[in-house]
Amino acid sequence: MSERPNNIKLVDAPDGYGGSGFFATSFEKVIALARSNSLWPLPFATSCCGIEFMATMGATYDLARFGSERPSFSPRQSDMLLVMGTIAKKMAPIVRQTYIQMAEPRWVIAVGACASSGGIFDTYSVLQGIDRVVPVDVYVPGCPPRPEQILDGVMQLQEIVKNEPLRRRDSPEYQALLESYGIIK
Ligand code: SF4
Repeated sequence: MSERPNNIKLVDAPDGYGGSGFFATSFEKVIALARSNSLWPLPFATSCCGIEFMATMGATYDLARFGSERPSFSPRQSDMLLVMGTIAKKMAPIVRQTYIQMAEPRWVIAVGACASSGGIFDTYSVLQGIDRVVPVDVYVPGCPPRPEQILDGVMQLQEIVKNEPLRRRDSPEYQALLESYGIIK
């Protein structure tokens, strides 16, 4: 069997206590490790930024390295919503519906200036940022952002997921956040 190339970095084990033949850690840390390295993306792409995401999925940038090689076009089988492109106000309810259909826990990345703030389209028909309709966890700047920036956004989200308490989704603060968007859990 060939040896593992020495430039491959394995994911660090969570904090814990190890000894000869054993390693002990908390259930919460194991779940967080698994979740943060298996984020399944739902690409909601409407324009140019979506092309950058296609490159991010391709062999050169290889989003699969981060456990996200399985894009889902079904909200129910994904947990990382990536909104990429200009979102017209007419489309805002669809973004919101897609978010609502995702199972908990779910996270959102606004990719690029348009999704984050409306971008250059400061006009009556364009939503001035998807955080008007859904809570956003990470904003990726750029018009368009390069694939490296999208990867950085995913890695930022991984850090958030890794440090999220297991019961956060049941907390009054999270309920209040959803209610502020008119979303009933
Ligand atoms: S941020 Fe720029 S590149 Fe991305 S969708 Fe908007 S106009 Fe296109």
